[in-house]
Amino acid sequence: MGETAAHRRAHVVGAGIAGLSAALRLAKAGWRVTLYEAAAQAGGRCRSYVDAKLERSIDNGNHMLLAANTAALGFVAEIGASDRLTRPTEAAFPFLDLASGESWTLTPGKGPIPWWIFDKARRIPGTGAGDYFGAWKLAFAGADDTVADCLARKGGDRGVLWRRFWVPLTVAALNTHPREASARLLWLVVRESFAKGAEACRPFVARRGLSDVFVNPALDVIHGLGGEIGFNHRLRAVIHDDARVTALDFGDHKVEVPPGDGVVLALPPGATGDLVPGLAVPRDARPIVNAHIRLPEGVRPARSLAPDLPILGLVGGSADWLFLRDDVVSLTVSAAEDLAEQPAETIAGLMWRDTARALGLDPASAASAQPVIRIIKEKRATLAQTPAALKLRPGPRTRWANLALAGDWTDTGYPATIDSAVRSGAAAAAIVAKP
Ligand SMILES: Cc1cc2nc3c(=O)[nH]c(=O)nc-3n(C[C@H](O)[C@H](O)[C@H](O)COP(=O)(O)OP(=O)(O)OC[C@H]3O[C@@H](n4cnc5c(N)ncnc54)[C@H](O)[C@@H]3O)c2cc1C
Repeated sequence: MGETAAHRRAHVVGAGIAGLSAALRLAKAGWRVTLYEAAAQAGGRCRSYVDAKLERSIDNGNHMLLAANTAALGFVAEIGASDRLTRPTEAAFPFLDLASGESWTLTPGKGPIPWWIFDKARRIPGTGAGDYFGAWKLAFAGADDTVADCLARKGGDRGVLWRRFWVPLTVAALNTHPREASARLLWLVVRESFAKGAEACRPFVARRGLSDVFVNPALDVIHGLGGEIGFNHRLRAVIHDDARVTALDFGDHKVEVPPGDGVVLALPPGATGDLVPGLAVPRDARPIVNAHIRLPEGVRPARSLAPDLPILGLVGGSADWLFLRDDVVSLTVSAAEDLAEQPAETIAGLMWRDTARALGLDPASAASAQPVIRIIKEKRATLAQTPAALKLRPGPRTRWANLALAGDWTDTGYPATIDSAVRSGAAAAAIVAKP
């Protein structure tokens, strides 16, 4: 790169995390960078906004990183935002069964051998040490195996560990129900987190909001390096000859791409498939539903959450996770195909019921309270991480020397998360820089 890079421009289309990661890499390598984003703000599926109904800044959905997400945490460190994440000293995940009222805290052991499964006090209630051995079947999963294929037990009932551990873990990590999620991809998650011990499992969440951690500081650094961003720029067509991309068509204007310039498309799979001729992409997606609830004044939780990690895992109700930030409770439902079809009012009722139980709100005041609730349905939150869909993930390289692809859904080898988005951006930047 060096001297020549300074005269070349990199056109990065899409200002989600993948686009920001690619733009950051290229700007730091001396390229003149222009980002083009269809929306009026950056961040894509990982952003904050001020919600007029709640009168609060909220995130489109709760996001969590683990220490194992080294690329994502490296990106956050590079943009100087590490202290904007909560940083609990230990990996301890509190859980509550909303149906039975039982609660427990999942605390992975220090080293790679999970001695904790032999300690009844640390096991998930209702499970025996032997139940956990089934995890090894994931290690030998074939490319077409689902999580359910590997963890099935005789008689169909998969047991308490299934309901209280494998289902929550799979939908949290892969946003795909274990009956269809790739066993190999889940094994990668287990291998890089639980199998490495507590240190790799330490969770991180945004203190004030996603944009405050991942988006605004990245834009600041990119701007500081001379980069530009054009909002409300939706790419309509990629113009090319046999060898390279020659122009980008934004409908009302075209941007020429002279020899030496590079292009990164950091778009969702559907948009990429529509724009790049002959490219097969995984179009099958799974939704995530989030409910953001402003607690009514005077309604105060009886259950307190850890100040350095104010989250609670839930089973036995409708929601999977509850996050608390000031007076806003945010609940997440992953792999929410059925729930996403329900009207917002129905979802709001279910989420308020789960909130009241989870936080131990006085039933009488919870019943009469008028919480303000915003339901956000991200219908295409991530690709469906099934064996079939994963085979369609393309790598970053295309048949045009100056065009590279990025996005959490491209073939990074990792689940479609912030970590994958960051990795994909770096891989695409490397290809543009050295075609
Ligand atoms: C509710 C929810 C919860 C999640 N929870 C977690 C979590 O806990 N941990 C985790 O690591 N990950 C989580 N994820 C996944 C994470 O948000 C994504 O992996 C990541 O944000 C994807 O970034 P991206 O840049 O690949 O894609 P996107 O964010 O989709 O970025 C693509 C960008 O391209 C723009 N665009 C689209 N079409 C065009 C066009 N034609 N021209 C120009 N621009 C265009 C879009 O507006 C968007 O800004 C969650 C996602 C959701 C939705």
